[in-house]
Amino acid sequence: MAVNTPTFEFTVLGCSGGPVAGKTCAFLLKPSSISFQQALENEVDCILALDAGAGIETIAEMIADCRKNTASVSSYFNQLYSNTEDPSYYSDNSGLMDTEPFEDVSKNSTNSSLQLAKGILNRMAAYIITHPHLDHVLGLVINSPCFTQQTQIYGTQQTIDNLKNHIFNDKVWPSLSYLSFNYLQPYTENLNITESIAVETFQVSHGITPPTEVYKSSAFLFTETNDKGKLLFFGDVESDLSSNTRYNQQIWLKVADYILAKELKAIVIECSSVDKKPGQPLFGHMTPTNLISELLNLRNICLEKEKATTHPLGGLNVLIIHVKETFDNLGDPRKQVLESLRGLNQIHDLRIKFTICMPGISYFI
Ligand SMILES: [Zn+2]
Ligand SMILES: [Zn+2]
Repeated sequence: MAVNTPTFEFTVLGCSGGPVAGKTCAFLLKPSSISFQQALENEVDCILALDAGAGIETIAEMIADCRKNTASVSSYFNQLYSNTEDPSYYSDNSGLMDTEPFEDVSKNSTNSSLQLAKGILNRMAAYIITHPHLDHVLGLVINSPCFTQQTQIYGTQQTIDNLKNHIFNDKVWPSLSYLSFNYLQPYTENLNITESIAVETFQVSHGITPPTEVYKSSAFLFTETNDKGKLLFFGDVESDLSSNTRYNQQIWLKVADYILAKELKAIVIECSSVDKKPGQPLFGHMTPTNLISELLNLRNICLEKEKATTHPLGGLNVLIIHVKETFDNLGDPRKQVLESLRGLNQIHDLRIKFTICMPGISYFI
C-alpha cells in the first residue's frame, strides 16, 4: 500500500463540542474509491455515519453551497467569531482537504438540495455511535423520520441500551420499527460493517457519573479491507492521566504496529479546550497538554517496539474534533488549541501533522 494514496474520505458535518447546537459532532466515512454521486446512482450503502450530532440539514446546506458557489458551512465559525480563518489555516496538511465534497451530487439539477440530502442519508450502511450524549446523537433522532429503509445503529451495550431506554422509548421519541439496534463487543470482534470496512471497538473513559462510576465512551479502529489502510476514531475521551485508567494505553499498544507498518492513516481525536488552571475540572475531555501526553505514550510504545525508528509519529495525521465554543474576548478557540498543539509538537519533536476539523469539509486520508 502506498503511504500517500488516500484510503478514506472523512466528511465533517459538524465538529463542535457545543454548547452551541447545529454543528455538533457528526462525520461520514467511506472508501475514497467511491464518490457520493456513485453511491447515490448505484444505490450502494457504503457510507458510515460516525456519531450524528448533525445530519440532513448540513448535507442539504453543503449541496446548496455548491450550487450557489458559497461556503456557508465551511465558514460556519465565521458567524460565531470575528477572527476565524479559512479552513486551510487549521491544517498542517491542507492537501487532504476537499471543500466541496458534494459537488458532483449538486449537479443533479432535477432534485432539491433537501431531496438529494435525503438520498445520501439513505445510503448509510450504518450509524456508529461512540456514546449517547445529545451532541453526538441529535441528528440521528431528529432525522429518523426521513429514513426510507431499515437503518442499522451500532454501539457498545451501554450506548445502545441508553438510546433505547432513554431516547427511542415512545416517550422522548418514538421507538421506530425501522431502526435496528446492534451491540459492538469491545476488544473481541473485528466486524465487517460494510463490504469494505471492518471495525474494532474499544472503551475509553469520559468522566465520572455520580457517585464514582467511570462514564464510558468508545473508540473505533476502521480498516479498509482492500488496501488495509486504517483510521482510529475516538468519541469524547479524557486522558489516562486524568481518569487514572489505562483505556487509552491499551489502544496505543494495539495501533503501534499499524503506525510502524504505515497502515494507520490518521487518528481523529478530541481536544475540547485549551489547558485549564490546575484544579479546574475537565469534565472527561482532553486539553492540548493531556493529548500530547497520550501521543508521547504512543511514541514511546513505538520506540520500544522498533528501536531503530527515530520519529515514529512523523507525518502522522492527527485530526482534532470537539473543540467547545467559548465566550471570552479571545475569539475562535480553535486557533488557541492549534497554537498550543503546534507548540507542544515542536517542543517534543513529534513531527505530527495536526488538523483542526472544520464542518463542510472532506479530508482524504
Ligand atoms: Zn461531546
Ligand atoms: Zn460526551
